[in-house]
Amino acid sequence: MPPFKTPAWMLKALDERREQHLFRSTQVVSSPQTTWMRQGDRRYLSFCSNDYLGLANHPHLKQTLSDAAHQYGVGSGASHLVCGHLDIHERLEQALSGWLGYERVLLFSTGYMANLAVISALASKQRPVLMDKLNHASLIDGARLSGATFKRYLHNDVDSAQKHLQSLDQPGVLATDGIFSMDGDRAPLAPLVSLAREHEWLLVVDDAHGLGCMGHEGRGAIDLEGLSAQDVSFLMGTFGKAFGVAGAFVACSQDMADYLTQFARPYIYTTAMSPAIAATVLASLELIRSDEGQQRREQLANHIQLLRQRSAAWPYPMMPSDSAIQPMLIGQSDDALHISAALAEAGILCKAIRPPTVPPNTARLRITLSAEHTHGEVVHLCDTLDAIFNDVSE
Ligand SMILES: *Cc1c(COP(=O)(O)O)cnc(C)c1O
Repeated sequence: MPPFKTPAWMLKALDERREQHLFRSTQVVSSPQTTWMRQGDRRYLSFCSNDYLGLANHPHLKQTLSDAAHQYGVGSGASHLVCGHLDIHERLEQALSGWLGYERVLLFSTGYMANLAVISALASKQRPVLMDKLNHASLIDGARLSGATFKRYLHNDVDSAQKHLQSLDQPGVLATDGIFSMDGDRAPLAPLVSLAREHEWLLVVDDAHGLGCMGHEGRGAIDLEGLSAQDVSFLMGTFGKAFGVAGAFVACSQDMADYLTQFARPYIYTTAMSPAIAATVLASLELIRSDEGQQRREQLANHIQLLRQRSAAWPYPMMPSDSAIQPMLIGQSDDALHISAALAEAGILCKAIRPPTVPPNTARLRITLSAEHTHGEVVHLCDTLDAIFNDVSE
């Protein structure tokens, strides 16, 4: 038998991506996820991970995972509704509910699935979806999956949201990122809460990048905006970023959790998160709420401040952000790739983010900071960028 032939349309699509400097591929990292990472035969100082608090390689969490695997096993064996919901899952759900002030929490294996579940279960032909233009792909895909009328308002623009909302005759689901993943800025949550309340829409906030990193005990963007569980019907968070582990959750009321349990297919038809992972996330939550967590948040805030001060000397603007995500707006994809390559040459890993992940002509260097970075390492990044930009201008 001859081998499968790659269809011409597929080769053409690949060629187009290459020509547009948009071709993507994975690179193997042969070290743990820390601020120093090995790729090929080189070590790099990394500024592109979402491990914002530096917990992915934390000794206590590694020990917890290993102990938990002995106690609970490595696999949950079934979905939550069949027989995969172990007492450690229950304890984690209760700890998260207590932390955030919600009646219930449901666990998911990834944030992508959590968003698919919530949006696709809530939205329908009778209940439209309205989202920020820059919301995460998983929220957008949830809306598509629901088959509901789907509108997007201008980024962080409450007037635009209101106009769209009033143009839809039935109440539906308003969804926004808390902190935007490719921009680092925060949603105007307080006015969005008022808008949703006034028109009796459900509000979903995805705070994948705020939870753990900011607010009292790391309660995220909601806390920074002076809001609480009473204001946001569904709060979604992930465990693969600041928590340093894997998985996600949705917090809501008892009734709403019951509703998702009946109708959210991405919750029902999938194996429950590994119990060893659930135990590790629980330990990570305890750490996030502790003094050590607070010190890590302060360290992160200091790094953010330092980077923003030093960025005044650079030819490209930093986007408005007080989060761990500090994007430098470059514009053209090939320019962004050049700067990323020059950093790699100097031993620093920081990825160019290009369309279609971001809008056309807004390619950027997405610098992410971690509490695990030392002050000296952030200074080194800034010195290296100074040198790259001086070279270019000479
Ligand atoms: C990363 C991310 C997700 C997806 O979470 P995973 O656990 O990585 O699948 C969802 N929403 C936002 C805003 C994210 O940044």
